[in-house]
Amino acid sequence: MTAELISVGTELLLGNIVNTNAAFLSRECAKLGLSVYYQTTVGDNFQRLEGVIRQALERSDVIILSGGLGPTQDDLTKEIAAEVFGRQLKEDEHTRERIQNYFDVRGTKEIPENNWKQAMVPEEALVVDNDNGTAPGLILEKDGKTAILLPGPPNELIPMFRKDIFPYLHEKQPETIVSEMVKLCGIGESRAEMMIADLIENQSNPTIATYAKTGEVHLRVTARAADREAAEVLIEPVLNELEKRFGESVYTTKEDVTLEESVAELLREQGLTVTTVESCTGGLLAGRLVNVPGISEVLKQGFITYSNKAKRKLVGVKKTTLREEGAVSEKTAKEMAKGALLVTGADAAVAVTGIAGPDGGTEEKPVGLVYIGVVVRGQTYVKEYHFTGSRSKIRENSVAAALTLLRKGILETAEN
Ligand code: ATP
Repeated sequence: MTAELISVGTELLLGNIVNTNAAFLSRECAKLGLSVYYQTTVGDNFQRLEGVIRQALERSDVIILSGGLGPTQDDLTKEIAAEVFGRQLKEDEHTRERIQNYFDVRGTKEIPENNWKQAMVPEEALVVDNDNGTAPGLILEKDGKTAILLPGPPNELIPMFRKDIFPYLHEKQPETIVSEMVKLCGIGESRAEMMIADLIENQSNPTIATYAKTGEVHLRVTARAADREAAEVLIEPVLNELEKRFGESVYTTKEDVTLEESVAELLREQGLTVTTVESCTGGLLAGRLVNVPGISEVLKQGFITYSNKAKRKLVGVKKTTLREEGAVSEKTAKEMAKGALLVTGADAAVAVTGIAGPDGGTEEKPVGLVYIGVVVRGQTYVKEYHFTGSRSKIRENSVAAALTLLRKGILETAEN
């Protein structure tokens, strides 16, 4: 079954508000197994909205409209939908009572005349109660097509969708879509895609989609089936195959687990403490680790050693190293990590030094050159990276690379 979304509101077209309703509704439709092929945003204009509704009804089974159900002159969605469905508007006693009650509860004596407009509903429409506002939702059905009208404010639309629209659509479309995520680090998108080109080429159900993230690649495996259990049966062998092919590059198969959370979990599992020492990332790495609740168990201290002096004084990088190799060098990264380990007594240390730009690059050491040093259980790792993009992109990539190298160090030394 196909669904199509129509977001109504000139504010959306002007970019004054972000269309979060469309994102929410698309996600919900995916959960319901509805295929969404089109989303349209249209202003508060009678002809254009009418045209969009007619076109949507031609090509989709269900159309979901959000916005334009308010009490004012420019709120036209209901009037136009009624006309397209060939229905008259009539007053709905139940909605009238709810509007009265809405204002009574708030102590409003004089109800604006406009609001009574919201008690007018198209004949034969199903009325969906709105517990957080005065505009009811409406469902219109005709010739196998359905239009669902919901108010624009997300605090009204979301609960109404969850409470009444989701079950209504679920009944219409008993199929379910289930998706699982495989998250990779330390591997680029093209390489990841090449490694599963055969799976992608032959896919039908489930499908695999790849998404490039900063320093990560996410693979979404999606199956369509009669119910969740049946979908999971389809997904499982694909997940196993992906895990087999990508091995340790898979840091999680849970949608909501982040790279920093998986690294923190590894440290916790193995009883290791860590310290960070950062130059070009200036605390971003420690910041990402601190995003993880309960990180204090493994992260006791971090350093921002931006200047050469700080690198010498705080973590004991040698003067000669800085003079001969420079602050952005393999040797400095190594000494930063080792020094931090010594000063804090942590079990592992991760150091970042690089040129985030936009200035400061040379031919020999261009912007984007970053060294990461990791020491864990006596083993030292240093890696050179060449990132591109803006200053913030380079810093974010450096943090992802630092977490990835730390993870690699922990996994490799655990095996020995
Ligand atoms: P109301 O009864 O409040 O007038 P309505 O159904 O007429 O609701 P709109 O007037 O179109 O809805 O929008 C009201 C408010 O709802 C907007 O100012 C905006 O804050 C929010 N809103 C509307 N559409 C969206 C959307 N697609 N995504 C996110 N927020 C939205």
